[in-house]
Amino acid sequence: VNLAEAIFDLGGVAINYMPVVSLIKEGDLIAGAVIRDGESGSEYQIKAQAVINATGVFSDGVRKMDEPDAASIIAASQGSHLVLPKAFLPGNSAVMVPNTPDGRVLFAVPWHDHVVVGTTDLGVDNITVEPVPMEEEIGFILTNAAKYLSKNPSRSDILSVYAGLRPLVKAGDGSSTAALSRDHTILISNSGLLTIAGGKWTTYRKMAQDAVDQAETMAGLEERPCRTEHFQIHGWTRQAIPEPSLGVYGADAPAIREIAIEEPALAEKFHPELPYIGAEVVWAVRSEMARTVEDVLARRTRALLLGARASIEAAPRVAELMARELKRDGDWQKQTVKEFTQVAKGYLPPA
Ligand SMILES: Cc1cc2nc3c(=O)[nH]c(=O)nc-3n(C[C@H](O)[C@H](O)[C@H](O)COP(=O)(O)OP(=O)(O)OC[C@H]3O[C@@H](n4cnc5c(N)ncnc54)[C@H](O)[C@@H]3O)c2cc1C
Repeated sequence: VNLAEAIFDLGGVAINYMPVVSLIKEGDLIAGAVIRDGESGSEYQIKAQAVINATGVFSDGVRKMDEPDAASIIAASQGSHLVLPKAFLPGNSAVMVPNTPDGRVLFAVPWHDHVVVGTTDLGVDNITVEPVPMEEEIGFILTNAAKYLSKNPSRSDILSVYAGLRPLVKAGDGSSTAALSRDHTILISNSGLLTIAGGKWTTYRKMAQDAVDQAETMAGLEERPCRTEHFQIHGWTRQAIPEPSLGVYGADAPAIREIAIEEPALAEKFHPELPYIGAEVVWAVRSEMARTVEDVLARRTRALLLGARASIEAAPRVAELMARELKRDGDWQKQTVKEFTQVAKGYLPPA
């Protein structure tokens, strides 16, 4: 979210709920993309001198919009995590187990006054938006974590369980373009679609630099030195934030505090078991482009990952606060709560 905000700070535009549905070609060359508004269904044509495909595990789908017969390059690997109460790992130190009995890596990390334990590494063929943690992954994490935590975790201790797909790049994909590094791969198709795939969160600045430098050359844009190495993203500050719960907002924290001061009801937590206040919901809508309850509870705050059941209980209150800001009616509230609840049930611990 802070990266998206940094785009606006620099005069750019980032849009959510607006997927690319096809690519525009002039002659044989990519000249832009058709995007669809996920709320209204309207489509728009955006012309561009360079189109960068950075869509993670969905990269092949966009590549096939360009070349329907393109060989797949993504090998998705599922990893799951469990969130437990802090009592399972008191203190501030993490535990890293470099080699479990079956040769895997396990860690337990203190996180937002909870502990997150993971992970797994399972090749999967089915690439979906909401991957589901598998029974064997949960069993593996619980059994192995029990050896290192202060007490044995059981399924009923799990506050939230979730899975993600790593967009690994297959070796030897047969493509004609260059791999720029061992970490991430850049492919440029014959029509000029630049795909960047693989890599890691920790190397995202280097990935961005390589992708933009390549795009600059490819599109014949004015070459400018890349600023990413020392660029301070939105929210950066040296100021200490007095409220620990607003610390993650950095320089934006005073603005959220202000919302809570103007309307004291918004200083209240929206659920007793979750560390978030109403003002954060209002802020998410006003300044972080949150459009649904799922945006607020899963992607603007970490509520869904800290407590799936508590988040389901909190959803109606969050919808009410959002509806006021977005000028939505009761039907919208019911629909966004229903959609969130459906997703959030997948984060509840299995019985
Ligand atoms: C279990 C797990 C463990 C990990 N561990 C580590 C780690 O230890 N260290 C580390 O550095 N990294 C780690 N990662 C990060 C990971 O390896 C990747 O770097 C990261 O998930 C991929 O980021 P990305 O930006 O390429 O893709 P994503 O974050 O998936 O972003 C792709 C974006 O493209 C959008 N999109 C898809 N299709 C379209 C379309 N048609 N039009 C427009 N937009 C579209 C999606 O909505 C999404 O927002 C881990 C990831 C997982 C899942």
